Amino acid sequence: MELPIYLDYQATTPVDPRVLEAMMPYFTHAFGNAASRSHSFGWDAEGAVDKARKQIASLIGASSKEIIFTSGSTEGINLAIKGAVEMHGAKGKHIITTLVEHKAVLDTCKHLEKQGCEVTYLEPDSTGLVTAEQVAEAIREDTVMVAMIWANNEIGTVNPIREIGAVCHERGVLFFVDGTQAVGKIPVDVGADNVDLMCLSGHKIYGPKGVGCLYVRRRNPRVRIVAQMDGGGHERGMRSGTINVPGVVGLGAACAVAEEDLEKDAAHSIALRERFEEKVLAELDYTTVNGNHEHRLPGCSNVSFCYVEGESLIMGVKDLAVSSGSACTSASLEPSHVLRACGVGDELAHSSIRFGFGRMTTEEDVDFAAEQVISAVKRLRELSPLYEMVLEGVDLSTVQWQAEH
Ligand SMILES: *Cc1c(COP(=O)(O)O)cnc(C)c1O
Repeated sequence: MELPIYLDYQATTPVDPRVLEAMMPYFTHAFGNAASRSHSFGWDAEGAVDKARKQIASLIGASSKEIIFTSGSTEGINLAIKGAVEMHGAKGKHIITTLVEHKAVLDTCKHLEKQGCEVTYLEPDSTGLVTAEQVAEAIREDTVMVAMIWANNEIGTVNPIREIGAVCHERGVLFFVDGTQAVGKIPVDVGADNVDLMCLSGHKIYGPKGVGCLYVRRRNPRVRIVAQMDGGGHERGMRSGTINVPGVVGLGAACAVAEEDLEKDAAHSIALRERFEEKVLAELDYTTVNGNHEHRLPGCSNVSFCYVEGESLIMGVKDLAVSSGSACTSASLEPSHVLRACGVGDELAHSSIRFGFGRMTTEEDVDFAAEQVISAVKRLRELSPLYEMVLEGVDLSTVQWQAEH
């Protein structure tokens, strides 16, 4: 077994060997610019990009003209939300989103608030779920867009996108979905699911980093957004800049593999997740799995270990590559905004670790990980006066703590 074991599949995934193989020629002899119309280097590149567009469209139930290539989901999110608000400013400046979005959505909304937009942040239930009823209640005359995560990157909760999309369409409001964690992992069909705009990213689905796309609906309704970058007018004028041909080819191949292996991958990840949780919960008390148990991403397990500090636990399991939440915020010591929105107290939020399982994870990896976690938690709790008090039957909520002098 090679150590450390990678269990951070929501932060990024390894490139699938089938994807790498498809990309290779486009770094070497097939290096053309897909926008070059006057020679075969350009035509070959354009052909490869067209094929990738079809592969992506097929996975998400779109048509290839609805795929706009970007540098990843962060760019897709910025383009979709800012682009729609700029296009539809005459209708209003109200956006509806949730408290459990990725930072890219939250920060884009904050930016727009500074520019005079009004944003409603829906509060999820304790499992991270937002309902269609909540969205229906929040929609106003001047609402331009509902922007929401499909599957949460920290706790894996899967939102009822189809029902929420139906509400948006009924009320004539654009529906943007951050599909980064959902695409390739659970069935996604932008038609049946009533999605108008959706971003996805190569490196979350066993493709390369730095490439992704934005799905932009072309009929019922035809969605129009304002480009956020000026230049050569690539991608139907919505995203200028020379296309990253090897990256796009890799994204296409990743989608083709994901479409073919979707059920197999999901069954594999669910089995590993359950194996891990069973082992850990059997050995450790005061341990809970966060998120929604019914509507959850196959390979995501966010666990709170009461009376253990998350950073100490991460240090204690050095042979496991895990994180205490999203890669983007793990540099700060702030407790996760997602767990906080789910009503998890700061103390317990600090005691939480995200374990991500995926295509390359084995049962052996999971067994090793579970053993490491169990022994590390037991070791840390032996040093914890709080845990000792709880075992002695002290109700911590009634304890009067003495301030230090
Ligand atoms: C990773 C991630 C992003 C950002 O994607 P990049 O392609 O890395 O910019 C956005 N939203 C979610 C839910 C993610 O998991």
